[in-house]
Amino acid sequence: MSAVIIDGKAVAARVRADVGRDVAEFRAATGRQPGLATVLVGDDPASAVYIGGKRRACVEAGMADLHQHLPADTPQDKIAALLDSLAADPAVSGILLQLPVPEGLDGAALVERIPPEKDVDGLTTPSVGLLARGLPGLRPCTPSGIIELLDAYDVELSGAPTVVVGRSELVGRPVAQLLVGRNATVTVCHSRTRDLAAVCRGADVLVVAAGKQAIIGADAVKPGATVIDVGMHRTEQGLRGDVDFDAVREVAGLLTPVPGGVGPMTIAMLLRNTLLAARAAAAVDNLV
Ligand code: NAP
Repeated sequence: MSAVIIDGKAVAARVRADVGRDVAEFRAATGRQPGLATVLVGDDPASAVYIGGKRRACVEAGMADLHQHLPADTPQDKIAALLDSLAADPAVSGILLQLPVPEGLDGAALVERIPPEKDVDGLTTPSVGLLARGLPGLRPCTPSGIIELLDAYDVELSGAPTVVVGRSELVGRPVAQLLVGRNATVTVCHSRTRDLAAVCRGADVLVVAAGKQAIIGADAVKPGATVIDVGMHRTEQGLRGDVDFDAVREVAGLLTPVPGGVGPMTIAMLLRNTLLAARAAAAVDNLV
């Protein structure tokens, strides 16, 4: 048996097209344009590439690109002041501080300046608290992109034995909480887990975000399981994931490729979050 390969590019394109259509409707109804303020401190080349992709996608979706670029030697209080002014600016629907920030700056403290209603990355403590309590709020982009992929392929989550490998604040924890919210029966694995392969073999749905290339082989996958590979590793052969793709595709029922699986979903969900933030702000002002 060979797994059906999940087409993350196609699902992401659909989400982006939907957001673009909804942005046009929102602008017509409210006279407002949703705006995304990406904030880049310094000139890290990888961060510049990531930010460039987010800015282009934002413009394509009909939103205002309110990008801010600060030199690497900008003091912490100046960056905090910029984030505060973006927080107070009604033209700004969402704020995203590109991480990591240059050495010497406290990125975690800067993220906390972003108010939850503009926290389109879903990483501030209030946003994390809303997710933990199952209350409405902006969810982190990669985890919500994973749920979107599972839904696009009609993967049954309710009651499903589900294993998440990784417990990071960025991916593992929030995706586990989103899955619990969808009534999956979730086990979270991490570096201290005993016999990882045995635990993973119990999963109908396996989400792997360990940051270890090819940590999941065919022996860790139940025949027919859905396997979502979040890992991203630049190798001489190109981008690779946390799953041994060639081996696992012979066992799994559904499998995300790397690249072209989870990766494209992250920007798509950022756009959706920015629209949700703009809608919530317009509702506060009685415009929708
Ligand atoms: P991270 O912060 O390094 O967390 C890795 C997690 O995996 C930790 O909880 C760690 O356990 C666990 N882990 C490490 N080795 C393990 C092992 N041998 N067995 C079981 N668990 C193990 O990484 P992250 O930020 O969550 O990212 C994970 C991967 O996803 C990376 O490759 C990253 O590049 C990729 N990523 C991709 C996207 C995308 O858009 N596609 C977005 C974000 C991240 P402990 O907690 O015990 O240390």
